[in-house]
Amino acid sequence: MKSPCQRNFQQNQSAALVGIVVALGVITACSGPVPPTYNPGAGPENLYLTNGQWFDGNRFVQRDFSVIDGYFSDGPAPDDARYIDLDGGFVVPPFGEAHQHNIDADNGRFEILNQAYLQAGVFYLRNPNNLPRTLPRTIELVASVTTIDAAFSGGGVTGPGGHPVQIAKRNVSRGAWTRQDVDGGFVYEIDDRAELEARWPMISAAAPDFIKTYLLYSEEYAARAEDEAAKYWRGLDPSLLHRVVELAHADGLRVSTHIESAADFRTAVAAGVDDIIHMPGFRTGIPGFRHEGPEPASGYAAAAEITATDAEAAAASGINVATTVAAWAILAPTARHNLRMLRDAGVKIVVGTDRYEETATDEIESLALSGLFSELDLLRMWAVDTPMSIFPDRKIGRLADGYEASLLVLDGNPLEDIDAIFRIRLGIKQGHVILTPGQHAEN
Ligand SMILES: [Zn+2]
Repeated sequence: MKSPCQRNFQQNQSAALVGIVVALGVITACSGPVPPTYNPGAGPENLYLTNGQWFDGNRFVQRDFSVIDGYFSDGPAPDDARYIDLDGGFVVPPFGEAHQHNIDADNGRFEILNQAYLQAGVFYLRNPNNLPRTLPRTIELVASVTTIDAAFSGGGVTGPGGHPVQIAKRNVSRGAWTRQDVDGGFVYEIDDRAELEARWPMISAAAPDFIKTYLLYSEEYAARAEDEAAKYWRGLDPSLLHRVVELAHADGLRVSTHIESAADFRTAVAAGVDDIIHMPGFRTGIPGFRHEGPEPASGYAAAAEITATDAEAAAASGINVATTVAAWAILAPTARHNLRMLRDAGVKIVVGTDRYEETATDEIESLALSGLFSELDLLRMWAVDTPMSIFPDRKIGRLADGYEASLLVLDGNPLEDIDAIFRIRLGIKQGHVILTPGQHAEN
C-alpha cells in the first residue's frame, strides 16, 4: 500500500509540480503511514474514550467522551461501556468528498473503493449525476452503517444538446446503456419553463438527495444554443435555474450546479442554489488539457475569474463551493486567484475531486500544497464543512453531545502538521469501531 503522498507523485507526472512540492516541503511524510485496518463486521458498542485530544472546531481540547447508542454523550460512562485509551491521539470528525463519480454499482468496484475511502478517513461522499435505473442497487451498497455514506442526485438537468449528454451517448454507443438512459435517464434536456414544469415530477422522483444542474458559459447561452460547434459545451438556460431551485426546495431537495465561468458562478449564487460543485475555470491550467467547443469571447482565463463582489455574495448566501482543482491549485493562476477570493470572503470551500478513479486525498493535498490555507482552514474544510455540505440534516462534522459518534484518531496534531490527517490510528462510525491500527507488512 502506497502512502497518499507517493500516490500523488505518481499520478501527477508534471515535473514542475514535483519541483514545487519538494520546494515547499509542506507535506513531508512520504515514507508512508500504515493505513488502518478496515473491519466491515464491526458491531455497535457503547464506549468510553479516554485520554484523547478533541477538535472543538478551533483547537484541540483534552477530555474523555461517552458513546451511547451511536451518539456522543457528555454523560458518564455507560455501564456496559468498553473503555478505549486514545493514548493522547488527536480526534477529528471523519472527512468528506463532495464531488466524485465512482460510487456506482454499475462499475463493480464498490468493495475496493469503499475500503480505500474509509482507510483514508473519508466517510461521506456525494455523487452528482446518476443513472436512475441503476441507482437503487448503488443505494443498497451504501446502506450498511459500516460502509461509506453517499448522497446522490438523479439525472442532471441541462439544455438540449447540453453537457453531459455526450457521456450518456458514449455509453449507448458502447452498448452499455440504451437510448432511454439518455434524455429522461442520465440527463434531462430541458428547453423552456413549460417543459421544466411538465417534466418536474419525474425529475424530482428520480432524485434521492439533490438535483444536479448544469451551467456552461451561460453568459453566451443564446448563441451557444444555436451553435452546432457548442454542442455539449452549453447547459441549462440560466433563466430557468431559479425556477428549478423553487421546485426542488418545495420538494425538500437541494440543488447542485456545475459551472465553468465566473458568470455561471454569479448566476448560480443569484438563483439560490445550495452547492456549486466546481471552481470557475477548474479546467484551465491543467497541463495538456485541450478545451473543446468555442472559446468564450473574453478568453478562458478572463471568463473564469471571479471578483471580490462575487465571492462576498456567495459567502452571504451560505453556498458551498467544491474545489475540483486537483493538483492545479498549485500552478494555475486562475485557480489561485479564485481560491484566494473565496477564502478572503469567507465562502464555505469544500473538498471535491470530480474523479472516477480512487483519489480520495489528492484534492486536500493539493489545497495544502497551494500554500493558500492555514492548517485550521484545511482541517475545517475536510472534516467539518465538506461532510456538513453533503448531509446538512445530519448531526455530523462536530464532536459534541448529541452528535453522531463518528471520529478519526490521528497520530499527531494536524494544526501543527497537516500531514497528520494521513496518519489514522482508529476510526469509529456511529459507535462501530470500523478502523483499527494498521499492521506493518512483514518482510
Ligand atoms: Zn463531475
